[in-house]
Amino acid sequence: MFPAIQVVILAGPRAVRPELHAWSSQLFDHHTIRHDDWPRDAIAVRRNRLVQWFLDETDRAWLWSIDDDMIPVGPEAARQLGTAPTIALAESDAEVAWCRAVGRDGRLAHRGNYSAACCKLSRRLLERMARPWFAFELKADGLDVASCECAGFAASARAAGASIEAVGIVAHAGIGAVAPDADGRPVVRFGEQWGT
Ligand SMILES: [Zn+2]
Repeated sequence: MFPAIQVVILAGPRAVRPELHAWSSQLFDHHTIRHDDWPRDAIAVRRNRLVQWFLDETDRAWLWSIDDDMIPVGPEAARQLGTAPTIALAESDAEVAWCRAVGRDGRLAHRGNYSAACCKLSRRLLERMARPWFAFELKADGLDVASCECAGFAASARAAGASIEAVGIVAHAGIGAVAPDADGRPVVRFGEQWGT
């Protein structure tokens, strides 16, 4: 399905969890796993290298990247949260379509603003954006980090005229119990920690 979309699981050196691998391999014609051993705090570099690879090595219209520690949330959990199912991301026409992400504390990460943990980006946008696509923004004195690479990307994308849409939701694995729904997709059932 979705032949115009290149799905990539952004993975460290460890094996990707079977349910995430099944999700990408069953739903998408073009899916791959990119393992690297860059440290976690080099995440902006990892994302930039992924985008460069996508532009250089594929000719597809969309890049959908998902971090290997995230789990797509199925229709039932999405309904509880009042969001569209994650698969709706595939059908979004927005140049930046992204999933709200549940942080390790069980709450929405990034205060509900753009998160790169699971997002679909258009090739046309990536080609016209200034580089680097992803970078940590520093505070004025350079002594601290002002925002993660997600906020910087969203600002650059807006400056490049991108439409940005939040569709669906993903969670860090381990936050809730994961079980397949009626369609065999993994569903995360959240605990009592959900907040905004
Ligand atoms: Zn971020």
